[in-house]
Amino acid sequence: MKGRVIKSTGSWYEVDLGDKLISARLKGKFKQADLKLTNPIAVGDWVELIPEENQETAVISKILPRENYVIRKSTRKQHFSHIIASNIDQAMLVITMKTPRTSLGFIDRFLVSIESFRIPGILVVNKMDLMDGENEAEWLTDIHEIYEPLGYQVVEISALLEKNLSEFFKPLLENHTTLIAGHSGVGKSTLLNALISEAGQATQEVSTFTTKGLHTTTFAEMFHLDYSGSLIDTPGIKEFGILDIEEQELSHYFPEMRAYLGECKYNNCKHINEPGCVILEKLEEGYIHPYRYQSYLNILNEEDSHR
Ligand code: GDP
Repeated sequence: MKGRVIKSTGSWYEVDLGDKLISARLKGKFKQADLKLTNPIAVGDWVELIPEENQETAVISKILPRENYVIRKSTRKQHFSHIIASNIDQAMLVITMKTPRTSLGFIDRFLVSIESFRIPGILVVNKMDLMDGENEAEWLTDIHEIYEPLGYQVVEISALLEKNLSEFFKPLLENHTTLIAGHSGVGKSTLLNALISEAGQATQEVSTFTTKGLHTTTFAEMFHLDYSGSLIDTPGIKEFGILDIEEQELSHYFPEMRAYLGECKYNNCKHINEPGCVILEKLEEGYIHPYRYQSYLNILNEEDSHR
């Protein structure tokens, strides 16, 4: 039997077999190739199963290779990581102009994370019904002008009024596994409730360790949509954190910089003040947006302070 893990409770996994759900567990030890993981199996994993005698539960016998995965690193020192979800086709970040306002820096950190996991990104502007003043219009124009040329689609919706959902939003989800994220208050729950009836159900907890050894709670759960497609919700996860990105690697996760890296004459360029650096030239010439470049510097500095 083959199925997809849609929920994890630590020792039991809920697996979708296509026509029904089954509770399954692991037996024995699973080796993770090169990762130190707190959880061997993640939501989104495709697994092979052997039914148990009672036919109501099953044992997971094999995890099929993951196309990709999103990881949360628990501590920089111990290198314990927690896979949040796997086999993701695209990741959506829900953002809002006000109540609360999403900063461009937050968006950029999210996009760098998903670029590092090789997952395409989409920005979902929610609460469009609240957009009225000039200030709002400017923010929205910035969002379109900065992110669309980089290949990130921007969709405008109102989850509360269910505006643009059927026309623009739902078609994006069809036949895809979509991870959805957003900081608290942007209307992600409202959106999920509008999309799926079961979204109101309580999710199961999965614990990870923080640096202080305390438990923080992270969740991930996959929902099926009425039409073909799955949504993976990650409540409690504000951003995925930027994982072990080397200074020289960071620019690879900015598509507008990546495009020119081959032309940079330095091998280990950080694109800060190196004379003749092609990235700095492109910035000067207006091919790289100053906001994005500022985000690049901010992330570089933050990562640096963690080393
Ligand atoms: P979450 O923290 O991202 O899950 O946000 P919630 O779904 O709990 O929504 C936070 C608040 O924003 C609630 O008061 C919602 O009613 C409100 N909200 C959500 N979507 C919209 C929207 O499209 N327009 C407006 N005006 N309010 C919204």
